[in-house]
Amino acid sequence: MIFELPQIKKKFQFNRFALITGSLIPDLIDKALMFLSISSGRGYSHTLLFSVVSSLFVFLITKRSKAISISYFIGTLLHLLLDLPDVPLLFPFIPYDFTYIEDPFGFWLYKLLHDPFTYITEISGLIILIFVIIINKLFSFNKITVYLLKNSKKEIKIENQYEDKLTS
Ligand SMILES: [Zn+2]
Repeated sequence: MIFELPQIKKKFQFNRFALITGSLIPDLIDKALMFLSISSGRGYSHTLLFSVVSSLFVFLITKRSKAISISYFIGTLLHLLLDLPDVPLLFPFIPYDFTYIEDPFGFWLYKLLHDPFTYITEISGLIILIFVIIINKLFSFNKITVYLLKNSKKEIKIENQYEDKLTS
């Protein structure tokens, strides 16, 4: 889910687009499979094996860009962390019982409306997202693209200053 996006702080060169892609990909794949009723929603792409293998794949197709592949890898790890404890981390080395949900959308909607943990994280994620957009003045498609694709250290410093201001 896009709302699982973590607050981003890194000292090395990183790529936001890769980080975000990495943090979304487990759900994109497993939720898609879930709607086809062949995954529990947290299945094969919610494993460390998937993180490592797909990151290597990203590393290779990006002409061995460490900034991109490591950002992507961190994205997937953060996603798994945020999904804990209901994650088949070590599958297939440890067997898991994948439970299949019959009505995935209804289930999600029910949780969204009834489970405080679900709606609080979704709402705070949305607020953070709006915040990031306003702080960085991302009001055009162009600006969003530049913001996402740039591998920059400078920008991150600025971002951290903002966060320091917020927390102080
Ligand atoms: Zn997930």
